[in-house]
Amino acid sequence: MKPNIKDLSCKDLTMFLTERKHPAYRAKQIRQWLFQKRVTSFAQMTNLSRELRDQLDEHFSIGRLRIVRQAESGDSTVKFLLGLVDGSSIESVLIPEAHRLTLCISTQVGCGFGCGFCATALLGLKRNLTASEIVDQILEASRTLREDQRITHVVLMGMGEPLANYIQTTKALEIITDGEWGVGISPRRVTLSTVGLVPQIEKLMAETRVNLAISLHATNDRVRGQLMPVNRKYALKQLLDCCRSLPMPRRKRITFEYVLLGGVNDSEEDARELVKILKGIRAKVNVIPFNPHPASRYVRPSDQRIARFRNLLHAAGLQVNVRRPRGDDIQAACGQLQGEELSGDRHGEN
Ligand code: SAH
Repeated sequence: MKPNIKDLSCKDLTMFLTERKHPAYRAKQIRQWLFQKRVTSFAQMTNLSRELRDQLDEHFSIGRLRIVRQAESGDSTVKFLLGLVDGSSIESVLIPEAHRLTLCISTQVGCGFGCGFCATALLGLKRNLTASEIVDQILEASRTLREDQRITHVVLMGMGEPLANYIQTTKALEIITDGEWGVGISPRRVTLSTVGLVPQIEKLMAETRVNLAISLHATNDRVRGQLMPVNRKYALKQLLDCCRSLPMPRRKRITFEYVLLGGVNDSEEDARELVKILKGIRAKVNVIPFNPHPASRYVRPSDQRIARFRNLLHAAGLQVNVRRPRGDDIQAACGQLQGEELSGDRHGEN
């Protein structure tokens, strides 16, 4: 199969062009066709010579993702099940809010980090996505929108651990955030969420300007280690020290995600500890009440308990936000993405 042209770096595309005596600036034009005008064939690249279009067609494909299924929730969240060339599938979720339209995208098929409360973890890691597969989630979701709608924000919070697929993820981030030839979403509107891979966090913050979210979920190593096996490699102190030392522009904050699990990490003492361990970090906290899924043994705390946890953080001066479960009626809420394989509903289709 021909390689997907969207995976070519600028350098490789330019080399292809100059080897064939085409001017280097064609690389930018080609990428504008791919990521801005979003054509699906080389024939549509009408400002290129016939010869160049034929050469591109001979060597490359313009890969696409197949929308296998599209489900809309009662709260207008839309979940896409997207088929990849090798037959595996991933999920993306479109989240409309008053003044923004956010797409939550995946970076791996499955995930290898085994967090005890997460549905994607049950799949294990199948493979990394390529940069084009990461970007194509935005392009395919955009194609389903009305003409007056546009994706304004992107969160890398779908299936997989973005920093465990560092090279393809940062390659995709460049395409997503470039305004000249790329998708053109400002890095201020892009947020990457990680289980807390310390060296890659440092590298990411040095190399990009996207926002950082960290899945914290506990206030001590004992509980965090039980919930997130990665804590054995990067313990809380190391993770928080890293956050303290990151060069943060003055108005920026690190988001800490805290999935609230009934009876596990939702006590008043947990709230007080959370305030304590975040001291000295420009932080905001996203409290995510647990979204149940088949096979999970955790429970969502009562609304009262969620409110009490939130109020304790707020009273201590922390910026805190409780995430409403979006799309939980279609299994599209945080931690419920699991692609086709475990969802059970693929049976009986086709
Ligand atoms: N691997 C990255 C990206 C996934 S983001 C990370 O872990 O940060 C998805 C967010 O949803 C993470 O904070 C994750 O811990 C959280 N999450 C996972 N399962 C969940 C569930 N069942 N309910 C609520 N949040 C969940």
